[in-house]
Amino acid sequence: MKLIFERSVPGRHCDVLGKCDVPYADLPAGLERAEAPELPELAEVDLNRHYTELNHNVHGVNCGFYPLGSCTMKYNPRVDEEMAALPGFTGIHPLAPAEAVKGCQEVLETAKAYLTEITGMDDMTFQPAAGAHGEFTGVLLIKQYHDSRGDKARTKIIVPDYAHGTNPATAAMCGFEVVNIASAPDGCVDLEALKAVLGPDTAGLMLTNPNTVGIFDENILEITRLVHEAGGLCYYDGANLNAVMGVVRPGDMGFDCIHLNLHKTFATPHGGGGPGAGAVGCKAFLAEFLPQSALMREAGHLQVRAFAGNFLVVVRALTYLLTMGREGIPEAAKNAVLNANYLMQQIKGSFDVAFDRICMHEFVLDLSEYKKETGVSALDVAKSLIDYGMHPPTMYFPLIVHEALMLEPTETESKETLDWAAEIFHKMYALGKEDPEFMHQAPHQAQIGRPDEVLAARKPVLRWVKPE
Ligand SMILES: *Cc1c(COP(=O)(O)O)cnc(C)c1O
Repeated sequence: MKLIFERSVPGRHCDVLGKCDVPYADLPAGLERAEAPELPELAEVDLNRHYTELNHNVHGVNCGFYPLGSCTMKYNPRVDEEMAALPGFTGIHPLAPAEAVKGCQEVLETAKAYLTEITGMDDMTFQPAAGAHGEFTGVLLIKQYHDSRGDKARTKIIVPDYAHGTNPATAAMCGFEVVNIASAPDGCVDLEALKAVLGPDTAGLMLTNPNTVGIFDENILEITRLVHEAGGLCYYDGANLNAVMGVVRPGDMGFDCIHLNLHKTFATPHGGGGPGAGAVGCKAFLAEFLPQSALMREAGHLQVRAFAGNFLVVVRALTYLLTMGREGIPEAAKNAVLNANYLMQQIKGSFDVAFDRICMHEFVLDLSEYKKETGVSALDVAKSLIDYGMHPPTMYFPLIVHEALMLEPTETESKETLDWAAEIFHKMYALGKEDPEFMHQAPHQAQIGRPDEVLAARKPVLRWVKPE
């Protein structure tokens, strides 16, 4: 496919601007460019076709199944988008006086009321723009709490080995030393390992429950009790609340602060790095350290982002909450769990499941034996799925499972889609045994096959350079 710059023809254009109806003003001297910018020149029809072609080459939830574990790629109802597009929400100015944006303030306050109820927290801010940003904010609350008590000895944050990579990264960015603990063979926190590292230097624990292998830790009350007993606080990574929303509450599990990814669980499409919201909730005793919550611009409060954060993401979340209601939210969670268990049981006949027990909203396949046998890796299977119109599952995560594929079907997929997906996995399993070389070469249909991912991440080419 050609780049838009390669489609450009000098002098071609589409006139879309009306005549200027205000007086021209001269730019201050020195601000004018010496040369015209090198913008692509295209007719409207070619411009339209370019972006439509790009659209056809992208896989999203609207195109097909997207079982990307830990990421909750659920279908987001259109009505949430419609509400977020209302001019009363999109046309506001962040510096508008509070009296002029009362409706927006009510959106924030109502969303806060529902989400604190769902999580068992007392207060919440919508400032952080992503999950990782929310974690950073939440762990700063823990730091502020210990500092405010003059407790300078608490320098360590405990993180289980199955944690999302953002957890240890966050703890380190907040200036803490990260203490990793190994999980038990059943995928849960090893209580003895936890006890061994707890002490007067413990600032807190960061935990996901259900964890990243899709298992709800039955010892959760004992875990949070032990951390509190040692003087630490408990942070809940609630990026993905899909398995438990409306069913159990992190606050009741003993957690002191949490973040939610509104862009995973609560109806904002994501995946392209678009606007998100890592809402941070906390118990009352931490609320004084919370960044300003709603549209309030109180003096003295920490700010982690300008104004009210990504406000329209909160509008979508509130619409989702109001349309789902008190019955719909737990029903969605239960269906997410049901769908994951159904798909796991369907696939189990071929690939190995890492933890063969009832899972929550996601499960992990372990392809290490299969790879030994066939030479076909988790990466090969993931790449092969692309040819069948399925987005690959999360790969090589969590780190405690080798050759991991982590699937999260979400509640919005039908039984037909899950049956179709299971059939493809069986097909992959058989194909890998028959023709491993074909799998090593996959994908065969996609625009981009197997880029050098390290090079792409370290030296991304983000700018078109005119050929000499
Ligand atoms: C997605 C995710 C995060 C990070 O969220 P971002 O919005 O991508 O920063 C953190 N923890 C868990 C468990 C996640 O699934």
